[in-house]
Amino acid sequence: MLERIEKLSDILNESYSQKTLSSALGTFFKDNFGTNDFIINLEHSKEITTLNYSFPLYRHKKCIGSLEFSEQNADLAKFLDICSQFISLKIQNILLNEKMQKDVNYHDTMKNIAKIIETQYELKYIIPIIGEMLDKFFEDYLIYIFLRDENTGKNILSYPNDCKDDKILSTIKIHEKNELIHDGKIYALPLICENKNVGSLVAKSMSGEISPKDKEYLEQLSNQMAITINRANVYAEILKHATLDALTGFYNRRQLEERIKQEVSNAKRQHAPLCGIMTDIDYFKNVNDTYGHAAGDLVLKTIAKVIRGQLREYDIAGRYGGEEFSILLPFTKINEAQMVAERLRQTVENKIIDISKVAPESETKNIKITLSLGIYEIKENDSEEDLMKKADKALYQAKNTGRNKVVINND
Ligand code: GH3
Ligand code: MG
Ligand code: MG
Repeated sequence: MLERIEKLSDILNESYSQKTLSSALGTFFKDNFGTNDFIINLEHSKEITTLNYSFPLYRHKKCIGSLEFSEQNADLAKFLDICSQFISLKIQNILLNEKMQKDVNYHDTMKNIAKIIETQYELKYIIPIIGEMLDKFFEDYLIYIFLRDENTGKNILSYPNDCKDDKILSTIKIHEKNELIHDGKIYALPLICENKNVGSLVAKSMSGEISPKDKEYLEQLSNQMAITINRANVYAEILKHATLDALTGFYNRRQLEERIKQEVSNAKRQHAPLCGIMTDIDYFKNVNDTYGHAAGDLVLKTIAKVIRGQLREYDIAGRYGGEEFSILLPFTKINEAQMVAERLRQTVENKIIDISKVAPESETKNIKITLSLGIYEIKENDSEEDLMKKADKALYQAKNTGRNKVVINND
């Protein structure tokens, strides 16, 4: 007996996780008492067992679980009467240790999220980092992060890249109405910051139900995430205003110049063709003078829309000045650019603009306007300023020779 107790004592000293303890004890009971199957069944794990001998483990008179065996014998029962206290104590220690380790990991995760808040502003970088951190922290759960699209109010999956789980997707639909979801294995939290719903955090357990402690962790993490996402959204909004023209949604002058620089250097490096188009609305001052500034603004917006509609996805359009737009056509030779410009000119010429809403006093309801355009294809020795300067020269010529036309600068 003494020898067995000593051996058990060694096992207890050497085991640091439930798994290693369980396997070492299994071998020990098999070698010493001839038992075949053995498991440690803890109260909260609610494992269904088919083993027929169960020995309860107590801690301060409270049952914390049981040792379960496939067969019973008197020797084993006697041994457990004496030693179950030690095993119980060891299991308590392991559980406490695991809990403490989880707390440490949790604080590390929180600290890392805080660090991300300080250094990163763009959601496309932030979300995958947070997602991976949460995945690592909640090993037994699948983590999903949804971001709310402000325009549609819909939650869009942002982490991971794919979700085929219909239950989660339907959960998210309900979530869009700001309700909390409780389903033992799915815990979905709305991400709310400054009374704004910015998305959802969803955890799905792959084994048992989500524990109250993990729910607490998830709630705290969701608060931290909501702050991060809200900040990134605010930053994106500021960035948008700093780079885009409010009236047309095109790049503003500063950003346009930045893009011209990039495109010219790209074209030179790759020896690829690049064309610039400068446009100016004909007699635009008349529109303002006759129908008012609001009608003028509507015309600008309409022209911007027409231009956008005529361009390919990687063409670049910017508002150069008041009623002057610049267009960059990468990988485009002059004859193609001429076709684009001509198509643009015709579309604008045929466009009927309804100003009745913005100029209600005016007897004229519909107006038409025209564009003059100048084009230039960049040459090897041109500087970045030359592209638009030379396109502008062609525009000037278009203005001086009748307007509503496309002129190419063949310098
Ligand atoms: P041209 O055919 O020679 O180009 O004649 P134009 O009248 O278009 O030329 P001009 O450059 O003299 O007039 C440009 C006008 O554009 C002057 C200004 O009032 C107007 N404008 C500039 N920016 C805006 C804007 O944001 N909104 C409105 N409504 N008008 C603007
Ligand atoms: Mg002008
Ligand atoms: Mg003009």
